[in-house]
Amino acid sequence: MEKRVYIETYGCQMNEHDSERILHLLEGSHYLETKNAQEADFILINTCSVREKPEHKVYSALGRFKWLKEKRGAVLGVAGCVAQQEGDRLLDRVPYLDLVIGTHAIPMLPQLLQKMEVSGERVCETGFDSAGDYLKAVLPQEPVGKVRSYVTIMQGCDHFCSFCIVPYVRGRERSRPSREIIEEVKRLVEMGVKEVCLLGQNVNGYGKGLKEEIRFSELLRRINDIDGLHRIRFTTSHPRDLSEELIQAYSNLSKLCEHIHLPFQSGSDKILQPMHRGYTKASYLEKIVCLKKVCPSIAVTADVIVGFPGEEEKDFEETLDLIQKVRFDDLFSFKYSPRKGTRAAQFTDQVEEKVKQDRLSVLQEIQKQITLQKNHEREGRLEEVLVEGRSKQSLQDMTGRTRSNKIVNFEGELALVGKLVPVEITKAYPHSLRGGILEVEFACSPQCLPCRSG
Ligand code: SAM
Ligand code: SF4
Repeated sequence: MEKRVYIETYGCQMNEHDSERILHLLEGSHYLETKNAQEADFILINTCSVREKPEHKVYSALGRFKWLKEKRGAVLGVAGCVAQQEGDRLLDRVPYLDLVIGTHAIPMLPQLLQKMEVSGERVCETGFDSAGDYLKAVLPQEPVGKVRSYVTIMQGCDHFCSFCIVPYVRGRERSRPSREIIEEVKRLVEMGVKEVCLLGQNVNGYGKGLKEEIRFSELLRRINDIDGLHRIRFTTSHPRDLSEELIQAYSNLSKLCEHIHLPFQSGSDKILQPMHRGYTKASYLEKIVCLKKVCPSIAVTADVIVGFPGEEEKDFEETLDLIQKVRFDDLFSFKYSPRKGTRAAQFTDQVEEKVKQDRLSVLQEIQKQITLQKNHEREGRLEEVLVEGRSKQSLQDMTGRTRSNKIVNFEGELALVGKLVPVEITKAYPHSLRGGILEVEFACSPQCLPCRSG
């Protein structure tokens, strides 16, 4: 008998991708996805605990769904980082919760649901899996009409930045064998995927601990050779491990998109040191110069934290200075949020909440202007856009992304989905671009620079 599953996801791409994998896994146990929690037999909240805000959302979401359990007997579950971190404590704290499933236990979900049905007992599974089965691909049974797809290449992290909970909730760094990754990308291409985004907490550390000797740049080269695939992206890379080979890949690999997400966290060496980041402001800036030399059109985005313990006004100014020097295309900016169990949570020089908020507002205002200026710089240019589908704003419009990862809306037909089209950018907005499709054909290949510049 068919059942319905509803998933609510909080957090990063890793969590989004886990939710997709859960849906594909449950297809095999006759669960169909529903976007309406009220008709679901199984409601799962897939969570993030990197900051306090998403963690709190779990409890409010559970409160919202409690009546559905009482009225319809829906099974309520929590997955992801909060589940991993809290484990049994979640079951104690929320008496109507049925299931807690940690970051390595996702492949066990169908069996756990079956077990619960038979025994009627509440279940908590948060063990770490040393065999690495949790990393295996879980693909849809049939093509799902997607143009872009995530592919996990590694999980966990060994860096132990002093503010970060990831190594505790995702476990140690573990890479997938390249053969498995290549096979997964080939299957996705057969299903119509044109762009893959390789996922991991620290993708440029890829390969450590594998039997084969392979680095991230070599993995990229092999994926670049896959016929039918148009574009490759990756996230996230750590500035400390950004090798010369990886920088060179931006000029050697035609499918590697001109975009890098390279979190810097702070512009002050005094703060980077206790953060345990392993680089300085100067060495970060040097890497950006090298990247721009090899690939002048590269778009750079990053993560930054304000209000880390001990951050004074002059440290914050160093952060603003770095932002002005790099001129990021976009920034994900966060107030430092103390995470239980991390070293920084015990530092005594915590920054007041109001100071953090004020610094965040100043930083975001500066970045807003830079992002808009960078978008304006694209006006009049010809961009290669991979068409993803209809725009949510207008029925006449299609939407897609440039190689630099900017969203572009333009008039067009549904038949364009999955195609690379030349679009002339006519107007810049803070979060997107507007353009018009041109009648230019890419004569040789979509990556050919002379063709792309018209
Ligand atoms: N692995 C990536 C790296 O090294 O940059 C980042 C992964 S982390 C899940 C995503 C972002 O969350 C970080 O880059 C950082 O800016 C932010 N973050 C992590 N811990 C945080 C904390 N305790 N408070 C505020 N922001 C935090
Ligand atoms: Fe967290 Fe640092 Fe690892 Fe990134 S590199 S996941 S910030 S510990």
